[in-house]
Amino acid sequence: ELNRHTDASQNGTNGVNGVNGVTPRGRLAGKNAVITGGAGGIGLETTILFLREGASVLMCDISEPALKRAIAIAKKAAPHMTGKVETIKCDVSKESDVQAAVEHLDAWGGLDVMFNNAGIMHSDDADAIDTPEKIWDLTQNINVKGVWYGSKHAVLALRRHNKKVASIINTASMVALVGSATPQLAYTASKGAVLAMTRELAIVHAREGYRFNALCPAPLNTPLLQDWLGDDQEKRHRREVHFPMGRFGEAIEQAQAVLWLASDESSFVNGTDFVVDGGLTKAYVTPE
Ligand code: NAD
Repeated sequence: ELNRHTDASQNGTNGVNGVNGVTPRGRLAGKNAVITGGAGGIGLETTILFLREGASVLMCDISEPALKRAIAIAKKAAPHMTGKVETIKCDVSKESDVQAAVEHLDAWGGLDVMFNNAGIMHSDDADAIDTPEKIWDLTQNINVKGVWYGSKHAVLALRRHNKKVASIINTASMVALVGSATPQLAYTASKGAVLAMTRELAIVHAREGYRFNALCPAPLNTPLLQDWLGDDQEKRHRREVHFPMGRFGEAIEQAQAVLWLASDESSFVNGTDFVVDGGLTKAYVTPE
């Protein structure tokens, strides 16, 4: 009963859709993945790891120039990929865009992995008094509705292709778990919603074999945060001091976690708040 690791890896994927007749190999061999926010920090690093591990990836992003840059980087970083990589312009707050992205994979044999990762933290996001309503709505539309649409169309595609195993990973944040005195209320509320939504989806779809997990990153060296912090040293220090390891995380460190959650190696991991934060949310005071 304990020696079941070979079963898990044979369960879910067809393993027949490599490019140029090359047999897919790697931890995601033959799996087809959609990655939203694919041109950004976490999305691009994840694309590269997925490609290196035998997946085919559709990179989705609202920014076409960013996609163009990102796919070039991904191809260069994964020269031995056995799957394929393509891009599609997709605003995750528009259901028709998300549907089109997911259905693009029908021709590849159907989706196996959905990484609902696109998200924004707007510079006008503030506290309860000062957050403009339009920023509130914009943030919820992208960060929450986008994850809902991605999850919905993933489930529809999985059923359409009669998949027995699938992994959906939704990017939440550490601020879904702990309160921040540097306010970004719309963002925090949106990530709390992602966490709760993911948990319920995990339970509802568990018997279909579709796993849902939420990724909770701590602040990272990606444009999303670093552009916002700029060269404001005080703002930067206000955050850095809380890291037990004394540094922000890197996007690649999130991508490694996503790779594991996407693979059959995590076949019994479902409904988790998967925290990748260098210990930040477990710290009382940090080392000097
Ligand atoms: P990033 O800004 O580098 O990447 C985000 C990407 O999403 C960008 O390429 C952007 O063009 C795209 N995007 C924005 N709006 C979109 C939309 N409506 N539809 C499709 N794509 C859209 O940021 P990142 O750090 O890689 O962020 C990825 C996820 O991680 C986000 O959900 C973010 O909230 C979360 N996160 C980031 C941090 C951090 O410190 N960077 C911490 C916790 C959680």
